[in-house]
Amino acid sequence: MTEDSTANEKTLYNVHQLCEHMVSSVLKEVNTIQYLIRSIEEISGKPFSRDRIKCLSSPPRAGAALHTVASAGYMWSKVRPGTEKGDIVMAEEHITPYMNGKDKVDVSAENLKSLRNFVERNIRHELIHAFDDVRGVIEPANCMHQACSEIRAARLSGDCFAGEEIKKGRVDYFQGGIQCVRRRATLAVESNPICRGFADRAVETTFAQCYSDYEPFVAPVYSMGSYGDVTFDNSTLKL
Ligand SMILES: [Zn+2]
Repeated sequence: MTEDSTANEKTLYNVHQLCEHMVSSVLKEVNTIQYLIRSIEEISGKPFSRDRIKCLSSPPRAGAALHTVASAGYMWSKVRPGTEKGDIVMAEEHITPYMNGKDKVDVSAENLKSLRNFVERNIRHELIHAFDDVRGVIEPANCMHQACSEIRAARLSGDCFAGEEIKKGRVDYFQGGIQCVRRRATLAVESNPICRGFADRAVETTFAQCYSDYEPFVAPVYSMGSYGDVTFDNSTLKL
């Protein structure tokens, strides 16, 4: 990143613009994300348009704390105004903490880097759901289907194999990763009202099969970000 673009990011954006800017930037720069979008386009036979990924602020709920607002979501069905089925939503509430100032975006280079990683992991997670949806094996009301997609998203997003897990001092890197995938998938399934109380069983039943299903990748993506120098062409890159 040049000094100029850092300066722009520091001064020009409110939280919505900063979020949209980060989304566009990871679409352009991260080739695991490009590859997922291209795979979705190949299966659906339709372009994946950039505006399917939206930065929105959650409707305020009385006393709602940040941890009760999901950082991102995939719209299995049309569940909120301003979205369509198949959209990906980034919650702006989770972007704000990376800003130093409230009214103006004043982001340190270090915060920008963590924000980029955060947006990248979230977009990759939700794109796994979008891929599973278009692959045609997911029913929104089937907790086993939901569990399978959450296991895949937790693993293939890189959430559990990124620096955070290693920094937490996991002694066994791979074992720690597996437990993290199990924990995150269970929490995600449990947050679906239809599956409340069934999450443990749904994740347990589907774990072995779905943990080793890497599609559309040929191997699990452990590291963050791009791998290789290849760009995977798709509609979001033709703006
Ligand atoms: Zn998920």
